[in-house]
Amino acid sequence: MLDIDRLTELLALPQKIVITTHHKPDGDAMGSSLGLYNYLIQQGHYVKVIAPTDYPGYLSWMPGNDEVIVYTDHLAEAAALIEEAKIIFCLDFNALSRINEMGGLVGKSNAVKVLIDHHLEPEDFFDYSCWDTKACATAQLVYKFIVNELNHKELVNKDVATCLYVGIMTDSASFCLPNTTAEVHRITADLIDAGAVNWQIYDQVYNNSPENRLRFLGLCLSERLEVLYEYNTAIFAVTKQDLEKYGIQTGETEGIVNYALSIAGIKMAAFIIERSDKIKLSLRSKGDIPVNDICKKYFNGGGHRNASGGTSEGSLQQVVNQFKLILPEYKKLLIQ
Ligand code: 5GP
Ligand code: MN
Repeated sequence: MLDIDRLTELLALPQKIVITTHHKPDGDAMGSSLGLYNYLIQQGHYVKVIAPTDYPGYLSWMPGNDEVIVYTDHLAEAAALIEEAKIIFCLDFNALSRINEMGGLVGKSNAVKVLIDHHLEPEDFFDYSCWDTKACATAQLVYKFIVNELNHKELVNKDVATCLYVGIMTDSASFCLPNTTAEVHRITADLIDAGAVNWQIYDQVYNNSPENRLRFLGLCLSERLEVLYEYNTAIFAVTKQDLEKYGIQTGETEGIVNYALSIAGIKMAAFIIERSDKIKLSLRSKGDIPVNDICKKYFNGGGHRNASGGTSEGSLQQVVNQFKLILPEYKKLLIQ
């Protein structure tokens, strides 16, 4: 383990630095990574953000985005960068399997590894960590790392602030989840003071869909939603053909699951989707219903108590049936 003084010493000289985040990056993954990137480049470091897989257009506009490398498109370059890095920042994930094949490369690298994350149960692969499961977003922890641990509030410029705002806004469901504390609002206010234009950022992220995504949402709401009032649960089941028909890309299904939670009384929602190789589940809940337990126990996944994901083998219908069979186990929580 490393202490903050040693890390500060290391960061006092220009270093080769890699920042990485989980596969299929979301707003917090890219926002926290690019926020940290825009901070580090001000100090003369040579920094690359490597995303394990690509990400959607509504996240591709942030400052620094043109410098991001997608691992699957640049295998050799990314491998060389990881091998040569003196410091690797691991953001918004805490198990090497979450960065796919990159996990092996990061695991065997001699770089100092810094974890900044808010997921439960971290694996032990890092030398320094800013880890807090109460944080609403990894971007919140990146802000605290820069401001409180490195004492560099003056380096939170407009670019840093814009990216961190994206992370906090998206992971807190636009400041609506219970972990959106007064501290989060104070940090958000600091980010606006530093130049983040909140209404423009909202527009870039949420009012930036291609037409097909809205039409696909229409299909999901009218044809693919099943509501099980007995369990206060709603399930979307989406086929591969649906995705192909509407030309839905990675990341464009993000957020649809939340519509089910807007039905009065519904406490848990599942978005179950047939990807080319397996079935992917996104679960969301309100209150004490631990969807991370469900994902961990039954679907090789995990996440947060109210927002988790996982995968399963078998047909879409089989996975939907499997999910329904799990509901009686959680009935007490679901109907209280
Ligand atoms: P989503 O439903 O948006 O894919 O994921 C929701 C949350 O669950 C995110 O915080 C994400 O990091 C986590 N998550 C999604 N899929 C997995 C998975 O396969 N394994 C683990 N450990 N966490 C996941
Ligand atoms: Mn996050």
